[in-house]
Amino acid sequence: MTKARPPIAMLAELTHRCPLSCPYCSNPIEMARQDSELSTDEWKTVFRQAADLGVLQLHLSGGEPATRRDLEELVQAAREAGLYTNLITSGIGLTERRLKALDAAGLDHVQLSLQGTTPEMADEIGGYNGGFKRKMQVAEWIGAIGFPLTLNAVLHRRNLHQLPRALEMAVEMGARRIEVATVQFHGWALKNRDALMPTREQAAEATRIVQEARLRLKGTLVIDYVPADYHSDYPKRCMGGWGSTGLNVAPDGQVLPCHAAQTIPHLSFDSVRERPLSEIWYEGSAFNAYRGTDWMPEPCASCERKTVDFGGCRCQAMALAGDPAATDPVCIKSPHHVDLQARADAHAAAENAALVYRTAPGKAPEPAE
Ligand code: SF4
Ligand code: SF4
Repeated sequence: MTKARPPIAMLAELTHRCPLSCPYCSNPIEMARQDSELSTDEWKTVFRQAADLGVLQLHLSGGEPATRRDLEELVQAAREAGLYTNLITSGIGLTERRLKALDAAGLDHVQLSLQGTTPEMADEIGGYNGGFKRKMQVAEWIGAIGFPLTLNAVLHRRNLHQLPRALEMAVEMGARRIEVATVQFHGWALKNRDALMPTREQAAEATRIVQEARLRLKGTLVIDYVPADYHSDYPKRCMGGWGSTGLNVAPDGQVLPCHAAQTIPHLSFDSVRERPLSEIWYEGSAFNAYRGTDWMPEPCASCERKTVDFGGCRCQAMALAGDPAATDPVCIKSPHHVDLQARADAHAAAENAALVYRTAPGKAPEPAE
């Protein structure tokens, strides 16, 4: 078994509740209900355990974390535990008063999501009328308070043409960083491949725009870029390597190696309600299932890139090849690669596909594919 190092970052999914309904939401199809969420005190204990384990950065996410009324108290507890705190938010549910309270509680950084650069696009994708206007107001308050800001733009076939404007907006808002993330097809996005899959031309154009902007905006804006992986030849280094650098705690306390890990049916997950976080990280069966490289079959086992991308994404291998230990089908060496590229082109050519919006926790989900 590969000896694990301590994790650097923890994603705390405080709730799956969210006023928006983005059709690419990475929350699972079966979302945690409000009555199963960890309490304020339980989260505080998790934060202390995370800091003891070696975690440095805490990403407070959801759903929409602002739907938790105890958000300010949680931020303060995380800071007292010595964690760097980053709030990942759509902005909806944040008022100027709450932002000031979060500042007073010690919040270090805000990451604001962008569903589009116009009210029409953003409100359609988020499924929330008036959301863009409120988000722009929140961005102004964030700037006035002086929080370091990262803009997080999720791009797909419908809004990739807005990438140049998204970059401009990041500069105008005084953001230090923008994450340009082409939609990753997990969770709800998997149901929306016909509506959201970018064309090969769009994917290439986005790469060109990012390369040009990185040169032009050097010293002003850092651009993190997640390219369209169905159109790529090699997979992403998912989570920096399974069980190597980060962990996710779901709203009900289950501890996951990545946000989509529950789609792998044979894995079982420990809960912070039953086991200390450090024991889960070092000894939990889900974390050790794909840690390191010993688990790899061919062609990954003898590949020179195996410690570069760790075989790609286990959840994508599950979704597309039906085997979580398979080489990520995005990889050119995967037997599924050619088929995947053809499917990507077919999804990208689909016409008039309606968006399947995510539903709220507790509502009946769409039937699985
Ligand atoms: S992706 Fe959209 S629906 Fe999902 S949590 Fe984020 S803002 Fe809410
Ligand atoms: S064969 Fe495996 S290790 Fe090699 S590039 Fe492909 S996914 Fe990565």
